[in-house]
Amino acid sequence: MKKIICILLVIAFALSFTSCAPKEKEFSKSTLDYFDTVCTVTAYDKNEKEFNIHVSELEKELKRYNELFDIYNKYEGVNNLYTLNELAGKKAVKVDKDIIGLLKFSKEIYKVSGGKTNIALGSVLEIWHEKREEGKELPDMKELKNAAKHTDINDVIIDEEASSVFFKDKDLKLDVGAIAKGYTADKLCKYVKKKGLFKGALINLGGNACAIGVKPDGSPWNIAIDNANENIKDYLCTLSVNNKCVITSADNQRYYTVDGKRYCHIIDPDTLMPADDFHQVTVICDNSALGDALSTTLFNMPLEEGKKLVKSYDGVEALWMTKDYRIVYSKGFKDFINEKV
Ligand code: AMP
Ligand code: MG
Repeated sequence: MKKIICILLVIAFALSFTSCAPKEKEFSKSTLDYFDTVCTVTAYDKNEKEFNIHVSELEKELKRYNELFDIYNKYEGVNNLYTLNELAGKKAVKVDKDIIGLLKFSKEIYKVSGGKTNIALGSVLEIWHEKREEGKELPDMKELKNAAKHTDINDVIIDEEASSVFFKDKDLKLDVGAIAKGYTADKLCKYVKKKGLFKGALINLGGNACAIGVKPDGSPWNIAIDNANENIKDYLCTLSVNNKCVITSADNQRYYTVDGKRYCHIIDPDTLMPADDFHQVTVICDNSALGDALSTTLFNMPLEEGKKLVKSYDGVEALWMTKDYRIVYSKGFKDFINEKV
């Protein structure tokens, strides 16, 4: 009898405790200030004031990574990728360990992608970037080929001990657009966990979405996948995920049109022309740095080769939208779809 009373007391105490605990609500904040894209944090918190305090702590980190990985702008007191592109061909430049980490990871990706994703392709990408901004004509192939002579990633010399970088080729330039957002999203997730900012959050940096932790009711996060088929004005599908990242590379993200043909922002290092096999590749992955690198890589790779690459990783799934709008899935992708449009 005594035992039963004790158990009932424990249950009663637990119930009163749960009813007193403040219910967490969903809040969301978007900004256009970083990585030239929309960055959104959605999370559960006690109230809006607490959410704003936690999200602004996270935003400081986002700002820091944006400054470090920016190739177009310099910032007072920061040696970033712009600084490397300007000076590392002349002398070793000391940089933050987060830049060293990104460069080391990118060198690994160069290998697994068979050279298709190469952050040392900057001098080629710069030409395409300029032409895309002007929006009139294609680059001159001779100019592209000359630029391609300065894209050997082995010429990027990393001294981890000194935390410095030197380019053996003075005309080499880095462009980390294929990897930096995913790499940053991953670091932000780790920061949220380390600081205990939110129990669960959805961090989305321009199509690099990471769902971490749990929602208060234990339900998974839903991530809507944009549809690169512009004839259909709706999402492609919605995915239900927990502790996974979802990353899309697509030909409608950055592109221009010349003589009625669309030229997208992902450049095949073998042809020096925009990749032309797919409209879209979406990757589901445990780690968004890898997911970002893989989505760009798969976009740039024949389908069968891409399928093999996906299979070689545990926990990676992919969806390809071919040029004729066929959707091809890796084996386990459909398990994550909760709503197909
Ligand atoms: P994503 O949207 O992640 O697929 O990355 C596309 C961006 O990566 C482009 O805007 C360029 O900055 C960069 N990029 C394009 N082609 C390549 C390539 N072959 N290797 C490495 N980076 C690339
Ligand atoms: Mg990418």
